[in-house]
Amino acid sequence: MASLSSLPPFAAIVVAAGKGLRVGGDVPKQFRHWRGRPLVRHSVEALLAAGAQPLVVVIGADARDDAEAALSGLDSVRFVTGGASRQDSVRNGLEALADDAPERVLIHDAARPDLPLPVIERLLEALERQPGAIPVLPVVDSLAMAGQGNIMAGTAQRESLRRVQTPQAFRFAAILAAHRAWQGATLAGDDAQVLVASSGSVALVDGDECLKKITFAEDLVDTIKAPAFRIGQGYDVHRLEVGEELWLCGLQIPHDKGLSGHSDADVALHAITDAVLGAIGAGDIGTHFPPSDPQWRGARSAQFLAHAVKLAREAGYEIGNVDLTLICEAPKIGPHRPAMRSAVAQIMGTTESAVSIKATTTEKLGFTGRGEGIAAQAIVALALA
Ligand code: MG
Repeated sequence: MASLSSLPPFAAIVVAAGKGLRVGGDVPKQFRHWRGRPLVRHSVEALLAAGAQPLVVVIGADARDDAEAALSGLDSVRFVTGGASRQDSVRNGLEALADDAPERVLIHDAARPDLPLPVIERLLEALERQPGAIPVLPVVDSLAMAGQGNIMAGTAQRESLRRVQTPQAFRFAAILAAHRAWQGATLAGDDAQVLVASSGSVALVDGDECLKKITFAEDLVDTIKAPAFRIGQGYDVHRLEVGEELWLCGLQIPHDKGLSGHSDADVALHAITDAVLGAIGAGDIGTHFPPSDPQWRGARSAQFLAHAVKLAREAGYEIGNVDLTLICEAPKIGPHRPAMRSAVAQIMGTTESAVSIKATTTEKLGFTGRGEGIAAQAIVALALA
């Protein structure tokens, strides 16, 4: 895999030795699927893509087969057996790198699969000035100390507190020495604490909400063994009336009549929204935006579609492609097609090439043929991200 030459060289340790029992199931959580790939593979691929070399994955004593299957094809990965605690596992990983003696090492948890490159860049940059650097986030909620009987016993100042994530970055010699010298009676919460205990200072850099730890079953349940593709279809009709604005594909189209409905009655966006919701099995547009709710009166339908796409992304899917057919005698759709493609692509956060807009008449037959209304049908394919 190509490395990014702008980053200084670094080694990496991915800790994947836990049993992950809280997630449930027979397989430890780091080997279960999340967004189409084993959890551990996400961080390993992200670190390799950023140039990590060598890369050590610390695994449980009996997990070799699972780990090799989960990371198949990633030849440069080295496996090391973990210890009784996370701290022991990290130390084993560091000792396994002692002969390589890299200048810098990132220590990461497999349970944080979504690792953005900018976080790695910030950590390595901070490591130029300090022996350690960790990604942190502010505390946004106020804090309470829990006393006996679950009675509030005090507060803490959230302004001076931070939530700590991984990867944590260190000068290799400093963190190896700190782990070897650790004399604590209890286990450290993380590797930054180990470095601080041996008087090393640790820089705080901005973390990322993407790095959230997968802990509980609900984080995984929707995406375990998720199919690579999902398809949904949508169909909608609105009545054409004099005195209404005509909105199609998020654009106002000049015409002598417009579509009537509770929202802006954009029949095209309604059909696409239903197709997206259908693909992820999340009900229909009325489930999410009931016409009985006055807040949607005259609403722009773009927000309905954007919401459906957000739900699809949360379920682990990206937009594959959209194919929409508008059925009407008038107005002529052709002149508006380029602007419509562009508008739909923008609402859905995809490219114009992924959006097809077609139009047909019904040869003056039926309600569309008589100009009483416009119908739209859409098919959407989603691909696992
Ligand atoms: Mg509708």
